[in-house]
Amino acid sequence: MSNIQDLYCYVDGEFVETRQCFDNINPVDGSKIGDIYQADKPLIDQAVHAARHAQQHSWGKMTVNQRCALLHKVADRMAEREQEFIDAEMRDTGKSLHQLKTIDIPRGTANFRTFADMVKFQGGETFITEQANGDKALNYTVNKPLGVVAIISPWNLPLLLATWKIAPAMACGNSVIVKPSEETSSTMYLLAQIMDEVGIPKGAFNLILGRGTDIGDAITAHTGINAVTFTGASKTGKHIMNSAANTVKPLSFELGGKNAAIVFADADLAKAVKGVARSTFTNCGQVCLCTEKVYVQRSIFAEFVDGLKREAENITIGYPTDEKVFMGPLVSQAHQQKVLACYQLAKDEGATFISGGGVPKFNDERDNGYFIEPTIITDLDDTSRTNQEEIFGPICHVSVFDDEDEVLQRANNTEYGLAASIWTENLSRAHRTAAQLDVGLVWVNTWFLRDLRTPFGGMKLSGVGREGGQHSLGFYSEPSNVCIQIDQQ
Ligand code: NAD
Repeated sequence: MSNIQDLYCYVDGEFVETRQCFDNINPVDGSKIGDIYQADKPLIDQAVHAARHAQQHSWGKMTVNQRCALLHKVADRMAEREQEFIDAEMRDTGKSLHQLKTIDIPRGTANFRTFADMVKFQGGETFITEQANGDKALNYTVNKPLGVVAIISPWNLPLLLATWKIAPAMACGNSVIVKPSEETSSTMYLLAQIMDEVGIPKGAFNLILGRGTDIGDAITAHTGINAVTFTGASKTGKHIMNSAANTVKPLSFELGGKNAAIVFADADLAKAVKGVARSTFTNCGQVCLCTEKVYVQRSIFAEFVDGLKREAENITIGYPTDEKVFMGPLVSQAHQQKVLACYQLAKDEGATFISGGGVPKFNDERDNGYFIEPTIITDLDDTSRTNQEEIFGPICHVSVFDDEDEVLQRANNTEYGLAASIWTENLSRAHRTAAQLDVGLVWVNTWFLRDLRTPFGGMKLSGVGREGGQHSLGFYSEPSNVCIQIDQQ
């Protein structure tokens, strides 16, 4: 891995060194990676202006085939530079090599390929209208780009989640202003280099770096930005909704979760234990889809908890470069403090700790990093803060249930509505219960298995709208109806 890497905004086809910068920190050992140069309001204005110009004169004027060929080139170049993406994402997040190689980085390229292909099949509606006098009219829709789309993304799956929005937005002919998380800007910086290398017209892709609390409003309230698509915390989503309100623009929100796993007595127990361990501890619990509440039917409760404890205690924690490591550190010191405060809250609320609860000790530089133990707790009420608030760390609460109606009611007793997983070998039960969970995604006997053509998003505090497949194309384009009078004669 190379050492110091400073990161700059990319606006109107140029990398820009701004006046203000802050440290980019490696969560493995707390060392400095480099400086991140933060955008200011005039630079954001310049980016919006450049984006509009590209949308109206270059990028937006290309044919769909031309645009998609360029987006495929982006994917090809990302694949060629894959190791750089792996290194950069690892430095920023501390996530494991295994996860980066199998999920984060390949999904980044897959997002570009999938949406570049899919947009070619975006159809429209047609209707023949019959009028009282016998005349007819032909109605059909034309899909137009929205214009300039702001994409604000979080730190937990930086490349994967940003490209999940950049690819369809650009495929539909929009220009984009991308603001990654201040914790994890490196892979977007690499992507900006690639946009430049493959000849994406200047202004079509702009990278704005900086802290959301400093520069977020200048983006979301901007009159020149036609839509905002955001992935992040529900609290930030509420703020953005207010900030964008005066300019009345479409918003797509993928927000927080408090996801349940339900394990029925008729589940394949070994598969369920492994599956729930994976859904709880993947990426140190820093996936919006991770399980934080597990409901286990009474007759298998003790055996399940024993199995899950064994899984948690077998997890290898350490240097993310080590192929055997499943859990690296949490993303930042601030997040480590937040998750530890949640562990403390669980203790204060009277939880029993089955496993974990603290910080692992290495007796080397990693003790300056932001590692945390995988943790399993029991014995709290559903109404406890621990069982109601999103933690976003490697922890789950396991509780016992007796029957289907009870567990559905308890799993739905939350302000969130993102995802759930059900573990059962009974097909009818799987269909019946999946339909009754108030969430955007249900997995049965699996977790985090994604098909990019399917709708993705949450209910309640977990989000507004759906992206994925045709839903993404729907959000990033404006269907406009053309009505043509057809005279009788
Ligand atoms: P966050 O809300 O703190 O930050 C997300 C992004 O918003 C960052 O780029 C940040 O700089 C920016 N931001 C912060 N304040 C802003 C403001 N006032 N205006 C505009 N932008 C602002 O979230 P996070 O801590 O980076 O990510 C973790 C959260 O994201 C968790 O709640 C998680 O559940 C959620 N998440 C949801 C999904 C999903 O698909 N539903 C996916 C991943 C993460």
